[in-house]
Formats: sequence, structure tokens, C-alpha cells
Amino acid sequence: MPNRKTIYFDNNATTRTSPSVFESMVPYLTQYYGNPSSAYQIGRQVNTAVEEARVRVADLLGCEPKEIIFTSCGTESDNTAILSALHTTGNRHVIISAVEHSAVKNQAEHLERLGYGVTVLPVAPDGTLSVKQVEEALRPDTAVVSLMWANNETGVLFPVEEIAELCRARGVLFHTDAVQAVGKIPIRLGSLKIDFLSLSGHKLHAPKGVGALYVRRRSKFVPMLIGGHQEKGKRGGTENVASIVGLGRAAVEAAENLEDETTRVRSLRDKFETRVLDVITGTQVNGHRELRLPNTSNISFQGVEAEALLIMLDQYGICASAGSACTTGSLEPSHVLRAMAVPKETALGALRFSFSIYNTEDEVDQVLALLPGIVNHLRTETPSAASLKARLDAGENLAVGAMPPVSTRI
Ligand code: PLP
Repeated sequence: MPNRKTIYFDNNATTRTSPSVFESMVPYLTQYYGNPSSAYQIGRQVNTAVEEARVRVADLLGCEPKEIIFTSCGTESDNTAILSALHTTGNRHVIISAVEHSAVKNQAEHLERLGYGVTVLPVAPDGTLSVKQVEEALRPDTAVVSLMWANNETGVLFPVEEIAELCRARGVLFHTDAVQAVGKIPIRLGSLKIDFLSLSGHKLHAPKGVGALYVRRRSKFVPMLIGGHQEKGKRGGTENVASIVGLGRAAVEAAENLEDETTRVRSLRDKFETRVLDVITGTQVNGHRELRLPNTSNISFQGVEAEALLIMLDQYGICASAGSACTTGSLEPSHVLRAMAVPKETALGALRFSFSIYNTEDEVDQVLALLPGIVNHLRTETPSAASLKARLDAGENLAVGAMPPVSTRI
């Protein structure tokens, strides 16, 4: 395999931990190992660091520190918000969309099996959803509307500010899974009518295994993890101190880098996408071209199996992701693209490229130099992902004889 540097265009899957985030964490794994609930000095010092992180996360979101609960991940935040809404209202109906992340989608399916009512709102072919759709789905027994702010596969944004207004006017709680939105678009919760918001550290250059849930002040709340008095009784379990400190540091950096995310990262994404569409025929962008995150591009390559493309890209150290998944032996298109009525063949050829502040124009150029040749190769040779995997297992180097540069349209 060529000894190339990794080119990481999969930042919606997870992000590189920022070096200064890592540095901020080290003392809390070595020197300051006290329990933040302990009254002696190294406990109190650790507690101060956790509270400092809470202030920093609140600053990023434009809310009050006491509205932030630290959790273990985005999934926990999502599950907690929805369960709390069901408990506090006593209502038994939940509204979600057809393109939610499995953290919400699978929880809703689980709730349905337990006898709760679930309405799944369809999306338009460009992945968008209207406030009117939500309005029409509200019922007197609706406990909570839970809609993602930004889609993880397409980057498409939902009009959560307006939907939150509607829900508040109708006396229904509103939760947004903002795991993909935080750090990529400005969020000022103080002026919004959102009741719950979920975020996850590893999507914004903090480590995996830490997240946060915003719970609007004076809201009724029932914890999901019941145990000790941590997080003022809102989330039992000794705090993951080092990661919380790291999340606080990442929140500061996310605020500082927001400008870069929305300008330079956007232009990297746009350059990449425009060139791919120009040079490679039979390509299309999935999702609304304007109403989406600045870092995400979901592109279908006609006549190419996305997983085979991923395997070939990986041979050159390039990381991207396919929404399709191999379940029970057959390739299933992503539920997001299916909900957008993308034809099965087109969905099976879809790849998500997601950029971050650590990506460079040089990386974009390197991928643009290789991608047309790889797509061309796959279209003419049509090896399946399974056969490529078998060849890799047999020790073959698939990148041998680097793809010929393609200067013309293919
Ligand atoms: N929600 C969205 C939109 C996501 O993209 C993800 C992770 O990919 C999650 C929730 C789950 O977050 P975590 O991995 O922290 O549980």
C-alpha cells in the first residue's frame, strides 16, 4: 500500500481531537484525579474545572451554564430528552422525521413497540421539511417533537427555530438533535424556543464518549440515569472529568473557528463538489444545495457501488463514508436517501464527504486528481465491494499502478 498521509474527509463520522483539547485533558488524567463530589482540595479543584467547562459549552450555545447537563454521548442526550418529555407530560405521542439519526429513529421504533404513538414525518426529495408538516402532525397527546437540526448524511438543515416557535405556541416540547450542527453553524439558544438540544463532543474535535444536553431553565425534567447527585441530580454517574474538560476547551475553539467553518471549509467543500460534478459524468448531489451545513457533500456516482469506491479510496489513504449498509448479505441504501425518494441504484452509489478546519486545499486537489480515475476504473471493471475485499484479504495491493490522471470528462 502506498505510504500516503491520511486524507480525512469523514468529519461527520467523527473528528480529530484538537491538540489543545488533548493537552487540556491530561492534568485531569494524571494530577487532578479527585472525584468532583469530594470535599477535599483535589475534589474541589476538579469540580471547578467541570463547572468551567459548563460555562464554556453554554457560551458556545448562547445559554446559561445551569441549562447544560453533561452526558456520555449524543445518543444519551437524545434518549434522555425524549424520555424526559414523555415522563413529565404524561403524553404518549412523539413526532420525528424519516431522516433522523438512529439515536432518535431506533428509540422511536422502540417506543412504538412499547405502545407509544409515533408519527414519522416524510421529507421532500431535497431532504427538507416544512413547519406546516409539523403543525399538521401535532396531536393533543403529543409529548415532544424531536427533529435534527442538520442531517448527518446530507447536511440538510431543518427550520428548527420556526418549528420551536410553533411547538411553544401549541404547548408541545421541542427537542433538536444538533449533534451535526454545533460548531458548524451559529446557535444562540437564549433567543430561541427550543426546550432540549443534544450535542456530542467527538463531532467538534473533543474526544468520543462525552456529550451534553441543553435543558431549558425552569423546564420539568426527569433523568434517564438515576443514581448519585451528580449534575444536580439530573444525570447519575461520576463525571467523565477529563473528557468534560476537553469538551469545554473544544467549545471555546469551536466558537473561535466558526468563521473558518462557514467560509474556508465551505469553499473547500464547494470547490470539491463543483469539480466532481464537472469532471465526472453521472454524478449528482443529494440534498438541498443551499439549506445545508457548510462542510457536507453527499454525491451519488451512477454505476458505482459506494462501498467499492470507499475501499479503493482507502487504498490511497482517503476516508469518506457511504450511507448504505450491508445488512443480512445484501446492500441496503441509507434510510435518509430512501426517504428522499432517491432511486435505489443512485442511493447505493452515494458517498458522503465531510470536511473540517483541519482539511486543506492541497488535500482537496489530491483527491480530485485521483477520484475520476478510480470512478472510471470501477465503472469499466465493475468489481463488487465483496470481490475487492477478497482481493485485499489475499494481500493484493489495489492501488498498484496509480490511477491514470483524468483531465477530460469521464
Ligand atoms: N445524532 C446525529 C445527527 C449524529 O450524527 C450522531 C453521530 O453520528 C449521533 C446523534 C450520535 O452521537 P454519539 O455518537 O455521540 O452517540
